[in-house]
Amino acid sequence: MLTLTFLGVGSAFAKRNFQSNALVEAWNVGPHAQSEPDDNLLIDFGGTGPLALHQLKDQPGFGYLNDAGRIRYAAIRNLFITHLHGDHIGGLEELAVMTRYGTNSPRPRLHIAKPLVAPLWENSLKGGLGVHADGMATLSDYFDVNALDPVENARFALLNRNEFTPISTDHIRIRTKLDWPSFGLLIRDRSSAETVLYSGDTRFDPEGLGPLMRDAKLIFHEVQLEEEARPVHATWSELRSLPPEIRKKMRLYHVSDAHFDRQYAGAEVEFLGFSRAQIRYTLFDSQGGPSLPGGLATD
Ligand SMILES: [Zn+2]
Ligand SMILES: [Zn+2]
Repeated sequence: MLTLTFLGVGSAFAKRNFQSNALVEAWNVGPHAQSEPDDNLLIDFGGTGPLALHQLKDQPGFGYLNDAGRIRYAAIRNLFITHLHGDHIGGLEELAVMTRYGTNSPRPRLHIAKPLVAPLWENSLKGGLGVHADGMATLSDYFDVNALDPVENARFALLNRNEFTPISTDHIRIRTKLDWPSFGLLIRDRSSAETVLYSGDTRFDPEGLGPLMRDAKLIFHEVQLEEEARPVHATWSELRSLPPEIRKKMRLYHVSDAHFDRQYAGAEVEFLGFSRAQIRYTLFDSQGGPSLPGGLATD
């Protein structure tokens, strides 16, 4: 079984929600029978990530993340970084320091698209992590780096069963489409060949993501609730223009605080609804039983 739990479903600047980072857990049986998954993966870890994880560890079924009241960072085995905005990487310094000095566990494995490796270190993390008690440090002192070449369609897997392929997304443009690296994830179950699409941050891109959306059994798609002339996210009205058969399997996330102030009742009718934070969604049920409608986990 593969499950996904959002630490938060908020946008970069949301204050009533943690930022949109997600914990994917791979289980040989499932959370109903195991106290801890057999492997796991954090998709992004933004500035609110540590506080969100601190709360998640106290939720039923997430006790393995709890180390006597503190976050058990050693329990995080893998990370995937979609892009370099602070709501997706702002918590990495804490995670890196805590896993290096707080435990005797192996370095977490960092799966990352090749074009992001040097900028992540040189432009974002080196200032805080470049020197430690033993002298100079590099990204590899903190993480076991698995650089994936998106040109070669490189992917990684959990439990040799669930494949994760980075998908280029049209988020920020310097001049042209895809000239600033950002990625979503196509998640595939090898046994059933089913797929789930996790959009990451992206503009509305039916041309680029359409075929993946059509084939996926479930889609987690970012949304920007506010309309604007030149959005770098997919807006509410743009997503509403998608065919109903795609919208009906789409859960929205990355919402601003406007989500709390206005009524979006249509989300439950026109889409699968808004994603909720800190509950498990089932992506694939390897036990052979049907997933519940909407991907809600059974427990
Ligand atoms: Zn974001
Ligand atoms: Zn972004």
